[in-house]
Formats: sequence, C-alpha cells, structure tokens
Amino acid sequence: MSEQRLIDMHVHSDNSPDGIHSPMYICECAVRNNLGAIAITDHCEVDKFFSEKFNNMVFNSFFECSKARSAFEGELLVLIGLEIGQPLSNKSLADKIISHHSYDFVLGSIHTPDGFDKDIKEIEYDRINVYKFMENYFSQLTEIAKWDGCDALAHITCPMRRIQGKYKIDFDYSRIKSVTDELLKTMISYGKALEINTSGLRQNIGRTMPDVNIIKRYRELGGKLLTIGSDAHNANDCGKGIREGLDIARACGFDKITFYVNREILELEI
Ligand SMILES: [Zn+2]
Ligand SMILES: [Zn+2]
Repeated sequence: MSEQRLIDMHVHSDNSPDGIHSPMYICECAVRNNLGAIAITDHCEVDKFFSEKFNNMVFNSFFECSKARSAFEGELLVLIGLEIGQPLSNKSLADKIISHHSYDFVLGSIHTPDGFDKDIKEIEYDRINVYKFMENYFSQLTEIAKWDGCDALAHITCPMRRIQGKYKIDFDYSRIKSVTDELLKTMISYGKALEINTSGLRQNIGRTMPDVNIIKRYRELGGKLLTIGSDAHNANDCGKGIREGLDIARACGFDKITFYVNREILELEI
C-alpha cells in the first residue's frame, strides 16, 4: 500500500475542548506525514451541547473544515466529521445536529456513561464492579449502534484506558462475552463500522481500542466495515498508529478498510 493512501478517520482540532491545533495546521501536518485523507471529527457532547458551548464549536468546526477542504483540494482529502457523544441523551437534538450540516462521517461515542456524572477518564474503577460497568457501557453502545445518525462507533473499549492502563486491573473479556457479542452483532446488522482507535498505542494501555480479540470477533460474526483513526488531539499525532492499525486489520482477516464521503461507504483495499 502506498504512503499516499493512508487515511486517518478520527482527528480533533481546536474546535474540540481538548484539541490543540487549527484544522488548517492539522492538514499541513497530514500532508507532511503523507496521509491521503483525514476526517476531522470534533467533539459534540449532546448532553452538554448548550451548557458547554458545543453549539459554537460544532459550527466553527464545520466552517473551518470546509475552508480547509477547499484549500487542500488535490493534496489531501479533508473529510468533515463529528464525534457525537451521548447522542441518545437527547435523540431529537442529536438528529437535528447531524442534519444541520452535511457531514461526511459521524462517529458515535460515549464519554459520560448513563448513571455517572463524570467522564470515563475520571471514574474510580477500583471502587466499582468493572464487569458490571463494562456490560452497562456496551449495552448503551448497542443502543447507539441502532441509531441511524452515526456511521461508526468510536473507541468501544475506551474505559480500558483507565481500567487496564491506569488501574492495572486484569480484565477478563470472556466474562462479558454475551454482551460484547450483542454489541458487535447489532453493529453488523445496523451497518455500523468498528473503529480501530490507535490512541492507546501512544498511552500506557499500549494497544488499540478495541484490542485484537474484539476486532477478530467482529470479523468472525460477519463484520466487514472497519475504520482506523488516531484520535489525535494534536496535529503531530495525526496519522500515528494508522500503519499498525492496518497490520492489525489484515491479521484479523480484513482485506479492506472503510472511509466515508457524504456519509456513503467507500472501501479501500489494504
Ligand atoms: Zn472519544
Ligand atoms: Zn475522539
């Protein structure tokens, strides 16, 4: 596969609260890193849409990404995306948000699980039953998989960054197998792509989210749609881990990866 064909389907700009760089600078770096396409998927937390000014950030993100798309035409394909968190906390608002602009790609995710008033990064996992927690988390993702507003689910094992990475809890996935299968089967039947999120490779968990066993299982169950994203919040991380993600995809039996233009599925042989 030529270097030009690398695609990073999950990048944040400074229109995300935790993003550092402007869309234009990110695109400059992406060209320098020999990427062929990137999707800028700024955060939109539906439960905090007005209170934390996501309404303004989402507007600015779309506007600036559209400008970057024109500026980099012929050099880099700039896909305009959104990472929509907790969409089912207010489904009618979420539907309105994604139909307000014409996005190329929408990632669904959960950062603040139902029943918690804090981000998954801040939960004290040594004080809760992590198996119950993950079952709940996967059940909530299963409902998002049924929503037609998103194309793929982001970092489906995100809490593991803390559970395994920080709290060093030896998590046994076989204990949540039926809920995991239910999530993967629902994603498959509703045509939702699984994301290989490579940010874990840069953090102390040291592996992708989800890890290989779940990617393999998605494939075994008939899953065909796979996106790969760095989840970069910094232009220098844009494209990081995409090659490793491709190696994992091939090792799990995939011969194509997926990207989206105007929310239509496009596939690229790997
Ligand atoms: Zn996220
Ligand atoms: Zn993200």
